[in-house]
Amino acid sequence: MSGIWVISETPKIAWEMLAKARELAGNEVVTAFVVGDYETGMDAISFGADQVLLLEMPANIPWEECRDVILKAGETNKPSLIMVAATRRGKDLAAQLAALLDAPCVSECKSIIKDGENFLTERIVYGGLAVKKMVSNGCLVATIPPGTYHPEKIEGRSGDVKQLKPQGFKMVVRERRPKPATSVNISDANIVVGVGRGFGSKEEIQMAERLADILDGAIGCTRPVAEDLRWLPEECYIGLSGQVVRPALYLCAGVSGQVQHVYGIRDAKTIVAVEKNENAPIIRIADYYILGDLKEVLPALIGAFAKAK
Ligand SMILES: Cc1cc2nc3c(=O)[nH]c(=O)nc-3n(C[C@H](O)[C@H](O)[C@H](O)COP(=O)(O)OP(=O)(O)OC[C@H]3O[C@@H](n4cnc5c(N)ncnc54)[C@H](O)[C@@H]3O)c2cc1C
Repeated sequence: MSGIWVISETPKIAWEMLAKARELAGNEVVTAFVVGDYETGMDAISFGADQVLLLEMPANIPWEECRDVILKAGETNKPSLIMVAATRRGKDLAAQLAALLDAPCVSECKSIIKDGENFLTERIVYGGLAVKKMVSNGCLVATIPPGTYHPEKIEGRSGDVKQLKPQGFKMVVRERRPKPATSVNISDANIVVGVGRGFGSKEEIQMAERLADILDGAIGCTRPVAEDLRWLPEECYIGLSGQVVRPALYLCAGVSGQVQHVYGIRDAKTIVAVEKNENAPIIRIADYYILGDLKEVLPALIGAFAKAK
């Protein structure tokens, strides 16, 4: 028997991958390896799994340590495709599974198509400037970025849910230090206000925060704002190496619109840019733009939205 495995420590990404797994599966069995309780397992069935193996990971064990138990549990249902959530730890797990199975590993896969016995995959390379297309036969391991597929709950599905108890770990977490995180998950936000390097200082970001507040939106930013200037937390940056967002409105200011950033906003329904340089790429990408200094435009927008509220 062959099958498709979906592996994720985060239910949301598991549900997304299951939509694609179901589409590719045909008569193959879709097995989901997820973390959670029985209800999570039943949800996985509704989202497309035929069988669910719930992994009970002790708190001091890193997620990728589940590789041995996954391989053992899957022995009877050899996979043609293993989809792993492209989280930090998921990428590590995928690499280990590929090495142990002597299978190719395609990371950050954006497209998977089945062509007979082969899988045709696509991933973005050269910082978003090119798409690499690959063909593989035999077992393929692919990591899937969050937000790549849309989860679909299918009523009336049934399947098996079993508990797995991983053991025999080689690595143990000695200490965890939480880093400050944003309270809003920008990948779920309906409106995202994007902050770019055009903001002159950390203090000026308050204008964007005020705007996001009035619009009930979330703050996102470009990579240099988070990684170089450290004005906003890392979780806020959007793009190829950051988050992918799909809001109804992406309203950005001081963002030039480089390809790596645009990668993360291209599925936004409407893009509005506030930009002082009419030759900036964001002007061509935006549905609407306001040409001007953000220090003048943002207070005017805040005033107008506040009045309209
Ligand atoms: C491998 C790789 C991966 C990368 N991944 C990402 C990624 O995931 N996400 C990401 O964002 N970037 C990423 N980058 C960086 C990316 O290439 C750009 O450098 C970055 O997106 C630019 O950020 P920015 O638009 O804030 O800054 P800039 O490009 O400096 O643009 C600032 C803009 O603000 C405008 N401006 C200045 N002052 C004002 C004002 N007062 N009013 C209005 N407008 C003003 C300027 O005209 C300019 O257009 C990556 C780069 C590499 C090489």
